[in-house]
Amino acid sequence: MAASVRDEGIVCRRVDYAEADRILTLFTRDGGKVGAIARGARTSRSHLGPALDLFARCALQVAPGRGHLVVITQAERLSRPWPEADLTRTACAAVAVGTADALQEGLAIPALYDRLASALAGMGDPQGDPRAELAWFALEAAALLGYQPALERCAGCDGPLVDGDAAFAPDRGGVLQGRCAELDPGAVPCHAVTLRLLRRMADGDRRLFDRVRWSDGLRDELERLLIAHLAYHLDRPLRAAALLHGLGGWVPPAQAAGGAGTR
Ligand SMILES: [Zn+2]
Repeated sequence: MAASVRDEGIVCRRVDYAEADRILTLFTRDGGKVGAIARGARTSRSHLGPALDLFARCALQVAPGRGHLVVITQAERLSRPWPEADLTRTACAAVAVGTADALQEGLAIPALYDRLASALAGMGDPQGDPRAELAWFALEAAALLGYQPALERCAGCDGPLVDGDAAFAPDRGGVLQGRCAELDPGAVPCHAVTLRLLRRMADGDRRLFDRVRWSDGLRDELERLLIAHLAYHLDRPLRAAALLHGLGGWVPPAQAAGGAGTR
């Protein structure tokens, strides 16, 4: 690596190290996943500590270090403080950064970085629906990484998919229908409404997606199959996903306050 460089990065993981340091796993825009050390980050005088919170997006100055860790010399936080007490938001963010963390070191994918930054901003927004944000990100990430699921033709026999109930098999590459679905014991349910939504999402129709009236069944099914798909192709379990199903559904603020909830 050349001398000191500027980049932008998202904190995927961090652990305390030695007396006052932190070791971080960052997903950077121009450098991909990197290991980094923030010396003295746990001292009260350090500017690095507060900037480099988990899930934070930061403008960084990094210098080569000894071994494989780069040294963070400056960090300026660009994202708002994370709502740590909100377990649903935190679990969604953990799944999203887990996707970047599963990539090989040094593989820069600026478009994925931008999508992850946007997804985390939405998940951390008190008005935002973190689970919808995660589902949207999961499909975008799959497409950017080359694993866009088959949604128009059966992943088993390549026959056209009809508007009806189906199944989803990550190892086959997408949606199965009819005999192909029946004969695959590993496939998970993908009901007609879920398939329709997946197709609109694949078209990039975010305005429509933001107006979806979620049922618990639709949300859970969409989330399960997209996360299973991503985890299969990343060859890594996205463990934080297991938390989501124990946390129940996200309720829009209007509904939580007893309003009509006409999203
Ligand atoms: Zn088929």
